Amino acid sequence: MNQARVQAMKKLIAGNWKMNGNGDTAEAFDNDMEEVLNKYSHVEWLICPPFPYIASLSNLQRGAQDCSAYDRGAYTGEVSAAMLADMGCTYCIVGHSERRTLHMEDNKLVRNKVKQLLSHNIRPIICVGETLEEREAGQAYEVVSRQILESLSDNITSENAVLAYEPVWAIGTGKAATLCDVTKMHGMIRDLLKSSLATAAKMRILYGGSVKPSNAAELLNADNVDGALIGSASLLHEDFIAIGKAVEI
Ligand code: PEP
Repeated sequence: MNQARVQAMKKLIAGNWKMNGNGDTAEAFDNDMEEVLNKYSHVEWLICPPFPYIASLSNLQRGAQDCSAYDRGAYTGEVSAAMLADMGCTYCIVGHSERRTLHMEDNKLVRNKVKQLLSHNIRPIICVGETLEEREAGQAYEVVSRQILESLSDNITSENAVLAYEPVWAIGTGKAATLCDVTKMHGMIRDLLKSSLATAAKMRILYGGSVKPSNAAELLNADNVDGALIGSASLLHEDFIAIGKAVEI
């Protein structure tokens, strides 16, 4: 079995530091993880720090939180997929709800970012999820399936990308989705991938939204939950490790 396939069978424990930390905290976190990475290699560990601190990670796998939809040129403030590849990034988050809301990012833009990343062999972590209003209106599945179908590019496979289901109302609120909500949505996403995107039928589907040590075992060992995207609990290495350790071998 090739390396990409073996890796894609492990659960992915991905930390999104958002706009937090500094060079010293990033380096200390990376040092504290060194032993853990060898000891708990049944999961795949990843940290996505702010751009300036990506190079502070030498033990941990490097990811980014966003990238440009363009190749190069007059795009002040943007960072291209080629630059991320140059920095040793293997993954990049795209379409996070904070970017969709605060920076008006839509599915078309996310899809263009996905294409850029794939052309530089970086795996996109494509975030999808409904707002509370959409859930209460009974539109959660419709919203999520549209985001998936419009954000994924044609050359997506089960190995070269990852989906993250992150209900907006669960992000940063301390209130994770229930096990029932998660398994229902992940099951529907799996069925959608099988029926509409056969090459990506086995793509990993992460859950994100207030994952913490106390709910990790329940969420991470559920059907069709292939890992977690973790915000605030990834800032403390003890919590991040405890979440990864909760994955059953
Ligand atoms: C996130 O920002 O992707 C996230 C899931 O945040 P939190 O874990 O803090 O809810």
